[in-house]
Amino acid sequence: MFNAPGHFFKVGEDVGKVGVIIAAAGQGSRMGESENKIFLPLEGIPVLVRSIKNFKQPWIDEIVVVGRSDEQDKIRTLLDRWKVSVDKVVVGGARRQDSVEFGLKALSEKVEWVFIHDGARPLVTEATILESFKQVQRHQAVGVGVPVKDTIKVIDSNNYIINTPKREQLWAIQTPQAFSYELIKNAYAEANLHGWEVTDDCSLVEKIGAKVKMIQGENTNIKITTPEDLEIATMFLNKMVGGLPMRTGIGYDVHRFADDRPLILAGIQIDHARGLSGHSDADVATHALMDSLLGAAGLGDIGRHFPDSDPEYKGISSILLLERVVNLLAKKQYRINNVDLTIIAQKPKLAPYIDQMRASLSKIMAVDLDAINVKATTTEGLGFCGREEGIAAMAVATIVK
Ligand code: MG
Repeated sequence: MFNAPGHFFKVGEDVGKVGVIIAAAGQGSRMGESENKIFLPLEGIPVLVRSIKNFKQPWIDEIVVVGRSDEQDKIRTLLDRWKVSVDKVVVGGARRQDSVEFGLKALSEKVEWVFIHDGARPLVTEATILESFKQVQRHQAVGVGVPVKDTIKVIDSNNYIINTPKREQLWAIQTPQAFSYELIKNAYAEANLHGWEVTDDCSLVEKIGAKVKMIQGENTNIKITTPEDLEIATMFLNKMVGGLPMRTGIGYDVHRFADDRPLILAGIQIDHARGLSGHSDADVATHALMDSLLGAAGLGDIGRHFPDSDPEYKGISSILLLERVVNLLAKKQYRINNVDLTIIAQKPKLAPYIDQMRASLSKIMAVDLDAINVKATTTEGLGFCGREEGIAAMAVATIVK
């Protein structure tokens, strides 16, 4: 029934297992940098991380990343740092088609549909992915592309024009390309048999005589190949994100000083004679931060999610709770744009700890260091903070769906 014309895909519907191969074993040499282009940051988040994250959808069952043999550790560390879980990272081959074939072999047998996507295309939209999936169920093979805007010339080895194909018939192919698993597996088997060399996966399906449906994607879905591409992608991304509504949340918390407790602020142990009293580790800064994030997402406050009455949270590191809050937001498809945290304490002096705090929060929240600001202030001896009765913290967070 899933191949019936007009079938409309609904999230949550049983449509068979879906696998994704992220081809990330390219050389990246055209960037003129020693580093593979997929590791370069695009607005603070590495290109590869963005490319994979677009496929982190509830209806996608498996993701396999194919990387260079000398970059396996680097890819794993990167995915870990940015909290992107994939099913496998496997070693690629010399040619793109070898890498994709290794990726196909790494998918589990039960996969019915396969997306193949370039690790260097970070701006693919959810709409394009969903449309590809809808169409592949009708056509078995789908390529995403855009009509070319320039007139294309075919030239000989001396740069003389041989002919000019009709522009109306010319499209530039991108990824994702989506296939029924059986079809693409057979196409690869035939390619091996005949020694075919291709630069994209649709070509193999064409070669075995099967039809491939082209669907129109977006001009913004560029492949990051040159330093200029990264600049263009930054502009596109800001335009895409700029069009989305930003949500804001505020957080405020106060804890009283207590003897015989360590002072923990933003996950960092501070050298001070006294700590703060509380059910958890009393990390007042992280509490304010969590409340700002929950507030921005419309998810209530930390008291609702981690009640004082629950023994599970007795003495717990608030940083672990922050991790849970970040996951809650991710589940609701929210991405953290930035946070600004102010800690109000007469003593101790917090300036020497600010960088450590930012680094700790950046790691746990899986956002760029630039997205996190931490400040500390005194109250010039006034009020409860000034009398050193306790520490207060305030936070503001902005998030984007
Ligand atoms: Mg608190």
